[in-house]
Amino acid sequence: MYALFDLDGTVHDKTQSLKACAESMHNKFLDSGGDANQFIDEFVKENCIIQPKAKVFENLASKFNIEPDIEANMLKYFDESFHNYSKRFDGVLECMNYLKGEGVKIACVTNGRGFFQRNKIKALGLECFFDVIVTSGELSIKKPDPIIFNAALETLGASSDNSVFIGDNLKADMEPSKKLGMRTIWVNNKSDLKPEFVDYKLSSFSEFRGIWQAITRR
Ligand SMILES: [Mg+2]
Repeated sequence: MYALFDLDGTVHDKTQSLKACAESMHNKFLDSGGDANQFIDEFVKENCIIQPKAKVFENLASKFNIEPDIEANMLKYFDESFHNYSKRFDGVLECMNYLKGEGVKIACVTNGRGFFQRNKIKALGLECFFDVIVTSGELSIKKPDPIIFNAALETLGASSDNSVFIGDNLKADMEPSKKLGMRTIWVNNKSDLKPEFVDYKLSSFSEFRGIWQAITRR
């Protein structure tokens, strides 16, 4: 069997990482007179919209009256340092060790700039587990395009019917991987929904082993 993981929101706790980075950037770049919580909320919101990072900081600059040279320094700092704030979801390391112990080959298939995603993977301590890393930035193709999934499968030497995709996004991860014939595990602890293209729902990585065993026993 082969396991293909999304990164952000699946193994990387993006929201917590963004909050920690925002707090530090508020202290570093902005007068401490301003409201840090308001900045943190906007920072998280802007970074969760699919848009270039330059646009994120342009929007933050206009909302919080940030001077152009500070805005440029903030963008540079974010690109160079965000990975230092990266946090894993609980249980991810145990899950990766379990899969490696089972002899499973693992890929990471992620939307984002190559250097940025790879820095995060390293900082999260996950680089050693991934046999293959595919980023949309390096391929110039984003999920949900099947091309990026097929590129990962091909590099792994896998076929879709012996592969499992684990991701948090229904449109970008679950629907396209199911269409290609993979088994799907949806990382979600908020929604009661379970669309037909989701085989298993995972609300915490403590459930991973049981789900994997259910899949491989078939
Ligand atoms: Mg994601």
